[in-house]
Amino acid sequence: MNCHEFQNELEDLVLNPAQAPSPVAQAHLSNCDPCSAELKELRATFAAMDAWTAPEPSPWFDTRVTARVRAEQQSAPANFLERLRARLLYNTGAQFRPMMATAMALVLMVGGAGTYLASVKSTPAPRAAVVEDLQILDRNDQAIQEMDLLDDASQDDEGIPQT
Ligand SMILES: [Zn+2]
Repeated sequence: MNCHEFQNELEDLVLNPAQAPSPVAQAHLSNCDPCSAELKELRATFAAMDAWTAPEPSPWFDTRVTARVRAEQQSAPANFLERLRARLLYNTGAQFRPMMATAMALVLMVGGAGTYLASVKSTPAPRAAVVEDLQILDRNDQAIQEMDLLDDASQDDEGIPQT
């Protein structure tokens, strides 16, 4: 057995320390110092990992996290600028796509409304001129009617002494 072949058996020897190495592997171990040292180190590492226990989190950890989440939920709803800032800070970019689409739609709408308003704004000018002309004519008409009435009245006044 060479070192390469022993590597295949090394895994079983480390994971099952109770299992005795095969006679061929045992022969290689006694003849090969590097492989023997590697097996020894790996067994020591695995033994240390078995003995190690993960530290328990502080008993107050869950309570504090829950309290902070509740405080955040009960706090006044963020205004539009704060929500926008949080979105800009923490988003992944995928959320930007509908936002960009909305922005583009807004730009198109504003542009369309702008041209519409411009067209609406441009039309009143001739109409206003027409209205003004009509108002002038109306005023003239009224003046003529008033003059007619005056004429009639003066004729009536003249007529009274005659009767
Ligand atoms: Zn070896």
